[in-house]
Amino acid sequence: MPTKGPIHHGKRIHIRCRRCGRRAYHIRNKACAACGYGASSRLRNPANNRKTLNRSRRIV
Ligand SMILES: [Zn+2]
Repeated sequence: MPTKGPIHHGKRIHIRCRRCGRRAYHIRNKACAACGYGASSRLRNPANNRKTLNRSRRIV
């Protein structure tokens, strides 16, 4: 298994996103990695990526 070098030969995986303008829109996944366009209708919030705080299992 190669660890170095391009895995995608000449194939563009990310194209320019229609919403955020960044080159982060995944063609195959049809979702933007930066803003979540395609995956969700709302803008991706990085704060939502964090796991929810579990208050019930607190170490006393
Ligand atoms: Zn985007």
